[in-house]
Amino acid sequence: MARQRPRPPATTHRHLEPLYERCWVCGRGLWNFDTHSRTVATLDGLVHYTLTIRACPNPTCERFRRGYHPEAEGVVALPHSEFGLDVIAFVGTQRYQEHRSVPEIHRLLSARGVGIAARTVTELLHRYEELVTVCLTDRARLQEQLTGQGAVVLAIDGMQPDAGQEVLWVIRDLLAGSVLLARSLLSSTQEDLAALLREVKEGLPVPIRGVVSDGQLAIRAAVKAVLPGVPHQLCQFHYLKEAAMPIYEADRHAKKELKKQVRGVRPIERAVEGREDPVAQATRAYCQAVRSALTDDGRPPLCAAGLQLQERLTAIQASLRGVAKKGDCRASFRVWKSSSTEGSRARPRCGPRSRPPTGGCMRRRGSSTRRRP
Ligand SMILES: [Zn+2]
Repeated sequence: MARQRPRPPATTHRHLEPLYERCWVCGRGLWNFDTHSRTVATLDGLVHYTLTIRACPNPTCERFRRGYHPEAEGVVALPHSEFGLDVIAFVGTQRYQEHRSVPEIHRLLSARGVGIAARTVTELLHRYEELVTVCLTDRARLQEQLTGQGAVVLAIDGMQPDAGQEVLWVIRDLLAGSVLLARSLLSSTQEDLAALLREVKEGLPVPIRGVVSDGQLAIRAAVKAVLPGVPHQLCQFHYLKEAAMPIYEADRHAKKELKKQVRGVRPIERAVEGREDPVAQATRAYCQAVRSALTDDGRPPLCAAGLQLQERLTAIQASLRGVAKKGDCRASFRVWKSSSTEGSRARPRCGPRSRPPTGGCMRRRGSSTRRRP
């Protein structure tokens, strides 16, 4: 779908020029042939670039009238892309390092002021994958880097963007953080994984000192077969996640029960619709706080969503009680009380919250589902 609203004006303007002033084929002075302008969305805002394009004026030269763009343009964005390379890098790291889903990344970008459609996030993710592939095929650079460090510790992990899709297997070196192999496989049997490990092992100029994985049976068997005697450690994040599973289940149940207590926000919002007085504004702020607390989600093992919700609702309730006690916003509280009885059995408790509606979770799992044996 095409853009429905025009882009806002750029906040920064920059001018780029090519480095060479003389043709490197025939030696003639280059002419300023054309001027291009493009606007690139970066994490720091919209930047408008004016680019000087040069060309050789010599009709007998092979560079005759062939546009020569500023070298620095390549550092800013890919050809024809509206988004900067920093945005592509952000999308890629959020997806593959933080395990965030595309909607989550879209929300993060929107929160940073990058105007982007959710579908474009997926497209940028594809660009990121292509760039990583190009980087991976630069074997000489990788070999040099690995030789310098003397050994590698492998991490093997499979990611499935959506249920039913191929699993992307990534083997990284944890010491340098380099990706050694990335391949999509339809099946993830022991033989498939062993073949990947063998390929990595044979291409390495240094020994493998250890392997870290989530401990899937197929991975365990493959490591045992291809790398006998190499220590294989379970990833601590996965370890914690599995250990916290019973607590997670209890927490999820608690969250479900808590949610039942704060139903009926919409009728309250409707009751003050179209009003701009302080009471209406305060009421809307409380409603927003409840919504934000409800939509916030924590993921195990480091973030208990139910406990987080309970903590936030308690804070909202305390704030509301404070307001009611002061008396200056009694009307707001009355509106609240009367409206809440229309839409739900329970009275919603809410209040402003200084924390933004993102959770404090250290690490999240996105929609990526993991294939288990
Ligand atoms: Zn020339």
